[in-house]
Amino acid sequence: MQFANPMIDPFGRTISYLRVSVTDRCDFRCVYCMAEDMAFLPKKDLLTLEELDRLCTIFIEKGVRKLRLTGGEPLVRKNIMHLVRELSRHLKSGALEELTFTTNGSQLARFADELADCGVRRINVSLDTLDADKFHAITRWGHLGKVMAGIDAAQAAGIKVKLNAVALKGFNDQEIPDMLRWAHGRGMDLTLIETMPMGEIDGDRTDQYMPLSLMRAELERDFTLKDIPYKTGGPARYVEVAETGGRLGFITPMTHNFCESCNRVRLTCTGTLYMCLGQEDAADLRSPLRASEGNELVSNAIDEAIGRKPKGHDFVIDRRTNRPSVSRHMSVTGG
Ligand code: SAM
Repeated sequence: MQFANPMIDPFGRTISYLRVSVTDRCDFRCVYCMAEDMAFLPKKDLLTLEELDRLCTIFIEKGVRKLRLTGGEPLVRKNIMHLVRELSRHLKSGALEELTFTTNGSQLARFADELADCGVRRINVSLDTLDADKFHAITRWGHLGKVMAGIDAAQAAGIKVKLNAVALKGFNDQEIPDMLRWAHGRGMDLTLIETMPMGEIDGDRTDQYMPLSLMRAELERDFTLKDIPYKTGGPARYVEVAETGGRLGFITPMTHNFCESCNRVRLTCTGTLYMCLGQEDAADLRSPLRASEGNELVSNAIDEAIGRKPKGHDFVIDRRTNRPSVSRHMSVTGG
């Protein structure tokens, strides 16, 4: 499809992927993501579902081909299926290639059939351990059984599930081989993520940080990993695991950033557009959205923002830098 004014940033990168955090609220409190006692946004600051639909539609008209709903936990936003149903018209028209989710899986058993019916073909489920006690400890509030039931329901509905696990030193690093065998045995890819210094949490990130270069070297003692050019439109670099026949992805913002091929921007539930996950610069789209019924003001604000998309991020985790690189939590922009 040709667009009159495709979104191209100052470094020549075409923006075709929008990630939308539809709520900052979550039913888990993962220890590396949030503090236990979080202050959430007042409801009046949130974009309504209609406003979210309008903004997403403007982005699609400007060339977005892949839309990911995330959060907080996207499936705890009230009436979220109304938005999904509305957005699915862009899949039917062919304007949108993919509508997908990143979810903690807790509500999937309820929504899987309807998501499939709306054209959701693939989702990412975040899961850091297969041990029920450890799961409860890392999420503070979560129950593994519910997530497992959610994964079952999604697969039964024909949705392809990819697992995302944040690699945490001393927590799940020894468990990754088992998770890999389990995921691949069920036909799911597994992607490992390095923990990023975003937002104040209760603990110290230096203690949790596990470079994936080290993880890969450890896995290579048990498995034969072959680099493959497989891409899903995201930042993961994949290997094929000879012993299981499945794929393993690495998302390495700390040890190797992937900014040169960045094709995405991130919208929060208040209508703030972040042009980079690892930078503070942002643009307010809510004011121009609400200022007029036409879309010209918002469209201009988006163009202006894309013109400021930075070259990349520079996350640092070490003992000297014990402040988060960006002050907002991952739940604001959804990762
Ligand atoms: N609630 C949904 C979920 O659990 O997938 C979507 C939002 S959650 C913020 C998205 C992803 O970000 C999850 O996989 C989570 O583990 C990851 N995440 C959160 N904080 C992170 C951090 N500081 N570093 C790396 N990944 C993080």
